Amino acid sequence: MHPATSLPEVRNYIGGAWRTPRTREWGDIHDPATGNLLGHVPLGDAGDVAAAVEAAAAAFPSWRATPPGERIQYLFRLKQLLEDNLEELARTITIENGKTLAEARGELRRGIENVETACGIPMLTQGYNLEDVVGGIDEMMIRQPLGVVAAITPFNFPAMIPLWFLPYAIACGNTFIAKPSERVPFTMQKVIELIERTGLPPGVINLVNGGRQTAEALIDHPGVRAISFVGSTGAARQVYARAAANGKRVQCQAGAKNHVVIMPDAEIEGATQIISDSAFGCAGQRCLAVSVAVTVGAIHERFRDSIAARAASLKVGSGLDDTVEMGPVISRESQRRIEALIAEGIREGARGIVDGRGAVVAGYEDGFFVRPTVLEGVPLESPLTTTEIFGPVLSLAHARDLDEAIRMIAANPYGNAASIFTASGLAARRFRYEVPAGNIGVNVGIAAPMAWFPFSGWKDSFLGTLHGQGWDAVEFYTDKKVVIERWPREWTRRF
Ligand code: NAD
Repeated sequence: MHPATSLPEVRNYIGGAWRTPRTREWGDIHDPATGNLLGHVPLGDAGDVAAAVEAAAAAFPSWRATPPGERIQYLFRLKQLLEDNLEELARTITIENGKTLAEARGELRRGIENVETACGIPMLTQGYNLEDVVGGIDEMMIRQPLGVVAAITPFNFPAMIPLWFLPYAIACGNTFIAKPSERVPFTMQKVIELIERTGLPPGVINLVNGGRQTAEALIDHPGVRAISFVGSTGAARQVYARAAANGKRVQCQAGAKNHVVIMPDAEIEGATQIISDSAFGCAGQRCLAVSVAVTVGAIHERFRDSIAARAASLKVGSGLDDTVEMGPVISRESQRRIEALIAEGIREGARGIVDGRGAVVAGYEDGFFVRPTVLEGVPLESPLTTTEIFGPVLSLAHARDLDEAIRMIAANPYGNAASIFTASGLAARRFRYEVPAGNIGVNVGIAAPMAWFPFSGWKDSFLGTLHGQGWDAVEFYTDKKVVIERWPREWTRRF
């Protein structure tokens, strides 16, 4: 039974129908800007998962046989519906996640790009063939869908990250189950309502809400062929091991600690603006957010002063206010965790050049705010050097030269993204060539691959082989079948 019936109900969408979750356990969903209770989310029930897998499996044979050119017609409709409802979706994202409306619109644009890209599936899923591999024998590779696939996604991009997977999965002919983050379930409710309006056959896309138990039920269910996961590295390791033990195809995009290097020849004003957007945008809750800024040579003090001034001047408040530049973090627990990490850094010897703890925003006194924070001199041996803070905290470090800066990046366990700001092509090329990270930015603060490229990630930031988006998504969501054919000429006389 739903614990507070006056609040909006989070429902599951299974086999083309909205269903009240069977779970007895419910969690709270808060508006991070006000602290107000928005609703309750089911924490999961393996029965809901089983029903979703059954519906997806029943829909698979006819969906798989639907020509790709017909499958993508639903995606064209979805693209238009997402465009037409962009403002309402952005508002929902802002209310449940806290990011600003501009950031919410931005994530929707990135999500829509994936829908557009998946519309190219009739070309993208083509195989290849070779006549006369041996005289009179032809060989071909064809791609076929896997069956039922599922995606388990995080809180920080409630629409975009599910859309890294959903369009490709169904365009390739699979049927799909989405398991959104239990902290932001309302956005996907709305997206699925739009999907329903495309007329997609029942069971092709299903939505199951819940937390870890729901995710584990999906990973364990023998009817699910592949798991796409995005979230923290700890959870990613568990998901990867569990899915592999169950013999499933699995891709896990995980946590991060991204560095930016500012060379002495960088244009300081532009670099400051871009690095500030990267470190403090979405309140630092982006897996591509810059977390450590490494200055090389004489630029250190100028950069420190200019980033500190920018951090101190950013307007913090409710994401619904168009003049606000940075919203709250996701939860009270996150706020406390981030503040504790700042305190730990300072205790270990870092200087809090701009200290964002204890933030109070007028009119939003119960919100989960941490103001932009800039720390200098975090000791290399401090756990903070390698901990993913996932909040608006930028650490400043200094390197004698590019070699030392690259060594600092390489010493980090994560490898999601790294950027360099420089006017030197040589420095940029060395950086691109040598830095062990999956997404590299040159004079770019958030090295976010467009939908046509894989969303890469190395080391502790990714477990698996194939990433989300682009060609990788097509590879992930299809199985290769090789056919070898022999039609002997001598048989001609038989007909
Ligand atoms: P999270 O790991 O807490 O949760 C992510 C999802 O996994 C949720 O749906 C959750 O219900 C589920 N989950 C949690 N623990 C699980 C477990 N043990 N087994 C199975 N499922 C589990 O992550 P979050 O706090 O929602 O998101 C923030 C994290 O995601 C950060 O670490 C961030 O860097 C990472 N992230 C990575 C990328 C990327 O592309 N590399 C993108 C966005 C976010």
